[in-house]
Amino acid sequence: MKYLDEYRDPKAARTLAKSIARRVTRPWTIMEICGGQTHAIVRFGIDEMLPDEITLVHGPGCPVCVTPVERIDRALELAARPGVILCSFGDMLRVPGSGRDLLSVKAAGGDVRVVYSPLDAVEVAEKHPDAQVVFFAVGFETTAPANAMAVKEAKRRGLDNFSLLVSHVLVPPAMEAILAADDNRVQGFLAAGHVCTVMGTQAYAPIAARHRVPIVVTGFEPLDLLQGIDMCIAQLEEGRSECENQYVRSVREGGNPAAMSVIEDVFEVADRDWRGLGSIPTSGFRLRADYAAFDADAKFAFADEPTEESTECIAGEILRGVKKPRECPAFGKNCTPEHPLGAPMVSTEGACAAYYKFRNL
Ligand code: SF4
Repeated sequence: MKYLDEYRDPKAARTLAKSIARRVTRPWTIMEICGGQTHAIVRFGIDEMLPDEITLVHGPGCPVCVTPVERIDRALELAARPGVILCSFGDMLRVPGSGRDLLSVKAAGGDVRVVYSPLDAVEVAEKHPDAQVVFFAVGFETTAPANAMAVKEAKRRGLDNFSLLVSHVLVPPAMEAILAADDNRVQGFLAAGHVCTVMGTQAYAPIAARHRVPIVVTGFEPLDLLQGIDMCIAQLEEGRSECENQYVRSVREGGNPAAMSVIEDVFEVADRDWRGLGSIPTSGFRLRADYAAFDADAKFAFADEPTEESTECIAGEILRGVKKPRECPAFGKNCTPEHPLGAPMVSTEGACAAYYKFRNL
C-alpha cells in the first residue's frame, strides 16, 4: 500500500475485525502505548469494531500527560522571569501546573513562544543575545534526536544563551512499571511505532519474555491498529509472548542508527519522575556533563515551591490503564478542554481529550 486512504479502507478494516473475532475465545485486555494510537482508536471507532471480549486500555504514551507538575512548575517559573524567553510546543501551554499554566504566565507578561521545532528556539536565541532562551524539551525517544541536534547546533554557533529544560522519558521502563504494578490488568501491548522507528525493537523482546506478555510494534492508521490487535490476540490465544513488528514499513530491528548516535552523544539515561507512575529508574534522558552549559536545571536556581495538583483528576489511573476517561467523575463536567484539571484533557495526545473530541458527549 502506498497512500494514506488505503490504510483507512473500511472493507479491509472489516475483514481484519472479523479475523480478530474468529480468534477470540476469552476476555483479553490490551494497552496501546502511544497517545497518537489512542486518538486514532477513538476517532475511527476501532474499539467499537472489536468483540466484547477485547478491552483496549490507554497507556502513558502522551509525553505532555506524564510530565510531572514539578517540571511544569519549573517551566512556569522560568517563563515568568524577566530576561527569559521560554519556547515550547503549543500543547504544553494549557497544561496545568500548580495553579497556573504557561498561557496565563504569557498573559501576565511572561515571554512564552510557541515553536514548531527546537531549532526554531536556537534561532530565537541567536536573534536575542541579551535574553536567555529555554526550550521545554518534553517527549519520548521520538523527539530526543531533534532536541539533541538543537543543543549541538547551539554549541556549533557558540550560543551561551540557549538551554533545554529536559523532561525526556523512555517507553520500555514505563511498560515494565505498569506490568509490575499490583493493579495491572494489561495482558498485551501495542508498542509505539514511531518510538521504535528511532530506537529499534531490541528492548522489547526481553520485556515480553520476562513478563510473558505479547508486544506488537504497531503503526497509527486504522488498518495498522487492527492488524496489531489481530497479531496480539493471536499470540495471547496461542500462549505466545514475543515481540513482533506490525509496522514493518517504518521500523527496523536496529532502529535509526544516525538518530541513536546523536542521542547517545548528547544525552545519558537517568531516573525520571512520571506523572501517575511515580519515579521509575533509568526511565529518562538528561544532558551529558559535556553539555551542562545547555542544561537549564544547572544554569538557573529554582525556588521549587510545593506543588499543587487537582484532587479530582485521576490521570495517574488513566495513564496506567486502570481506568478510562469516562470513569473520571470530572470528565466533561468540572474538566473540559476550556477548563482542564489535568494534562490528558488538553494534550493533543491525551486520552481524555480524545474521548471529549470524538465521542460526542
Ligand atoms: S477528565 Fe480531566 S480530571 Fe479527569 S482524568 Fe482526565 S484530565 Fe484528569
